[in-house]
Amino acid sequence: MSYQGKKDYYEILGVSKSASQEEIKNAYRKLALKYHPDVNKSKEAEEKFKEITEAYAVLSDQEKRKKYDMYGEEGIHAQYSEEDLFRNVNFDDIFRGFGFNFDDIFKNFFGNYGGYRQESLDIGYDLDLELEDLVSDRPKIIELNRVDPCPVCKGTGLEPGGRWVTCPECNGTGQKRVVKRAGFASFVTVSTCERCHGTGKIADKPCRSCGGTGKVRENVKIEVKIPAGVEDGDQLRIKGEGNFGNGRRGDLYLMVHIVPHQRFTKDRQDLIAPLSVNFLDSILGNEIETEGLNGEKIRLKIKPYTQSDDLIKVKGKGLPKPHGFGRGDLIFKVKVAMPTSLNDRQKELLEELRRTIQNN
Ligand SMILES: [Zn+2]
Ligand SMILES: [Zn+2]
Repeated sequence: MSYQGKKDYYEILGVSKSASQEEIKNAYRKLALKYHPDVNKSKEAEEKFKEITEAYAVLSDQEKRKKYDMYGEEGIHAQYSEEDLFRNVNFDDIFRGFGFNFDDIFKNFFGNYGGYRQESLDIGYDLDLELEDLVSDRPKIIELNRVDPCPVCKGTGLEPGGRWVTCPECNGTGQKRVVKRAGFASFVTVSTCERCHGTGKIADKPCRSCGGTGKVRENVKIEVKIPAGVEDGDQLRIKGEGNFGNGRRGDLYLMVHIVPHQRFTKDRQDLIAPLSVNFLDSILGNEIETEGLNGEKIRLKIKPYTQSDDLIKVKGKGLPKPHGFGRGDLIFKVKVAMPTSLNDRQKELLEELRRTIQNN
């Protein structure tokens, strides 16, 4: 039987009906790298990305592909919720090494159930960093409110001394079956039992401390080592520091904001600051002292005939570069400072200087 559906998943991925799993995967990867919202900001790309991802979720799964071949897109949507559609797709495997973060994209696209994840346990956190934090070896302390395992039942929800018994709601199968009709065919939808969360077992005595949920909300402090080379707008993933639920922990995502510094401007790993140089030093040259980011004393050699906007570089005193490649530079931008008042003797000397230059 050939099905004429609204969407042709094979056509969307540009593969033949007899394509192998490897061909499907390659086709999806190629398209995803083109339409991924991290690289392609257009509205159409977002739609396209959704479309190819749905096509891939179906065609990469033997069972779903077979259903699709028989009943088309309508059949797929009648049988699977969006959650079920994306549940077992291993996107990490496809995008390993590309630095894309799929959790967030799925939250944006498919609502907050996290697409292929049952419940999002991840936490987003806005992290303000000062330039000083970027040169410091000290870890940053982050305070957050999150869901932790109940200390009394260790996250199980079972009162100490209690037992696990078969869930009466699903008779221990952990699943709920509902029959749906989609025009020409009927489908059995299988979803997770809400009472036992798919485990098939419930506690005969729920933990009194947490009401049987196994979870408690707590304020916690987490130490985070700031990686070298971090930029404003970066997202840092701290594995296993998110909320607790269903026996596991989500991740903590830190959205990095670099707070502007009153003296230094960041340019990648270089730090740039204005430097006022006395007009005589700028003409005759001198050695002067200034301060670095942490107030450390820095001696600078002013060359004779230094002009405003000239740059004086101090190598290796900027921010740490990623992967241990040393540090950027401190760069001072000269502004020649003119005197605003002189005494008679000083004026006399300058007059004399003027005459010698005019006579040259
Ligand atoms: Zn408990
Ligand atoms: Zn159940």
